[in-house]
Amino acid sequence: MLNKGITEEELFSFFSCKKREDLDHNFILSSMCTLPHDVAVRAHCMFMETNLGDPGLFPGTADLERQLIERFGTLFHLPGAGGYATSGGTESNIQALRLAKVIKKVAAPNVVLPESAHFSFKKACDILDLEMRPVPLGADLRICPDLAAELVDKNTVCLVGVAGTTEYGMVDPIADLSKIAVLHDVFLHVDAAFGGMVVPFLERPIPFDFALPGVTTIAVDPHKMGMSTIPAGCLLTRDPEMLDALNIATPYLTVKHEYTLAGTRPGAPVAGALAVLDYLGMDGMKAVVAGCMKNTQRLIAGMETFGFPRAATPDVNVATFVAQTVPTPWKVSWTRQGHLRIVCMPHVHRDRIEAFLADIGEMHA
Ligand code: PLP
Repeated sequence: MLNKGITEEELFSFFSCKKREDLDHNFILSSMCTLPHDVAVRAHCMFMETNLGDPGLFPGTADLERQLIERFGTLFHLPGAGGYATSGGTESNIQALRLAKVIKKVAAPNVVLPESAHFSFKKACDILDLEMRPVPLGADLRICPDLAAELVDKNTVCLVGVAGTTEYGMVDPIADLSKIAVLHDVFLHVDAAFGGMVVPFLERPIPFDFALPGVTTIAVDPHKMGMSTIPAGCLLTRDPEMLDALNIATPYLTVKHEYTLAGTRPGAPVAGALAVLDYLGMDGMKAVVAGCMKNTQRLIAGMETFGFPRAATPDVNVATFVAQTVPTPWKVSWTRQGHLRIVCMPHVHRDRIEAFLADIGEMHA
């Protein structure tokens, strides 16, 4: 730390330099995050100092969190669902597994999850000392429900399905997993961190939410397709009281208990997330998702014309291809199987798709 502070001008000229080192969103095709919506930024700034870890001091902000959960409950066919705002999919997945473990106390707990599950489940299982039982995927890159059923036993505390896989954008057959969960009385967590803000707005939605009787909890991230500021995730529970199983005493706060993982929690991104939902409404979100899906289809068609076949036909706006390289300065990512992966987020407008196609076409001409 400097002994004597620097001027504001020096400080922000240094920050401007650092900001310029970050990549330009015009070329970012690999991220599941996007530029925040203007109303999210405005709401975020308005609630900058709020701390949901001590909600009695910020009852207005706490009410925004309640409303955010209510919006998602309604969107996911259970208006009275419980839940709270997390820092994102990782925290939601950790907390879901923590809840499952606390609810079903067994000596050697295990979790049955698809091979496509996000790496946050590895973190969760490490922290919570849970055995991971990966279920192979079918040729369609979705979890194979019969194999999942075979791996469930009396020590299974949680079955996991993914609505919108990180690498290939697939939605697992959650309806089949729901049947297994009901039959074996097992907790079913749906990781809809990405797809939770895509699937409900598709022309033909795929069943994945509380309308299915076996679904216990759902993770959804407004900071991905919800265009909120970062960090904004939500964990939803079928039973509104369920999270109380995680309560610990918080003697010096305005509340006496808390079930959240983080203590201090920002209200700003919660306001940002709610702002986008209320500003756009169902119609606005449907338009955003329709645009992203159309761009995904255009990208797939364009790439195939150049001789780069799709690796999968995705359920959500994640496109994957058999390809080796891409021209600079485009920033794409690569799946574990070596496929080129592009996420058609809201900032990836049609002209960016066309520009990328022109560049890759020229490179391989
Ligand atoms: N779950 C899925 C399906 C994801 O795609 C991701 C991130 O991409 C996560 C969980 C983790 O989310 P976060 O990085 O917000 O913790």
